[in-house]
Amino acid sequence: MKIIDAHTHFFSYTWLEHFCQLAAGQFSNVEALAEKLGWEMPSKDPVELGERWVQEQDKFELKRQVLFASKLNDAEELAPALNAFPDRLIGYFMIDPKQEDARNQAHYSFNILGMRGVMLFPAMHHFHASEEKVHLIYEEALYAEAPVFVHFGQLSIPIFQKLGLPDPVDLKYSNPLDLREAAAEFSDVNFIIPHFGCGRFEEALNVAAEFKNVYFDTSSSNSWIQLPLTLKDVFKKSLQVLGPERLLFGTDSSFFPRGWRKDIFDKQVQVLDSLGVRKRDKKLIFAGNIARLLGLK
Ligand SMILES: [Zn+2]
Repeated sequence: MKIIDAHTHFFSYTWLEHFCQLAAGQFSNVEALAEKLGWEMPSKDPVELGERWVQEQDKFELKRQVLFASKLNDAEELAPALNAFPDRLIGYFMIDPKQEDARNQAHYSFNILGMRGVMLFPAMHHFHASEEKVHLIYEEALYAEAPVFVHFGQLSIPIFQKLGLPDPVDLKYSNPLDLREAAAEFSDVNFIIPHFGCGRFEEALNVAAEFKNVYFDTSSSNSWIQLPLTLKDVFKKSLQVLGPERLLFGTDSSFFPRGWRKDIFDKQVQVLDSLGVRKRDKKLIFAGNIARLLGLK
């Protein structure tokens, strides 16, 4: 089966360096931080890190993956990797719409750096998804024909905890219902809610039921799911409400040596098989939908 992973992270050298600086004095250098995290040191050359991911794709017969530039302004770092492997790697950039030059940043990231999607983290950057100042991002996404990824629900950023850094997350901005006005006004923009709403499943379902331009990604271990709710229930309900055309497979893979999280793929295949999902629909979830959203050949 053709697989495209719609949710993985590009934890670049500059990404680690950024946290090394934030941790002010805790680590003598970036290598010491990588060691503390148990990570293989990412190459300083982003093309080499991109190649590392392409090798991983080959190992598991993945066709492509979406890689997130996982801090502000890290798209600069990701772009050379995308340019080196245009048929295998796809990039999304993170933006804070409250940044003074947000529109220029978005325009530059789409048109010069070749990013194919934009990511918003309302709880981290403290804004509501439908407020006026975010519209410029939706407008740029509309021009670029790019999806907008919006993280709602729980947001744990493990590195903040590991380094004892103050957690910037404010969950009052984390309600998927905040997306309603934007989804209505920007009906030609496709919105992606990761991890089935990450603990705000009911609200995410409500938004997706109302707006056909709202998608879910299935990524991560989905540890927000607590008994009696199971991953199977979550998939079943999502299939009922969104249909197989609006679910995007993802793993949330991020660092080496762990690499691509095949365990998550296997689990999702198993759940879909147990629900009797047809082969045609699995093809959509594991590759077809994201290919359609991004206009991939
Ligand atoms: Zn993620």
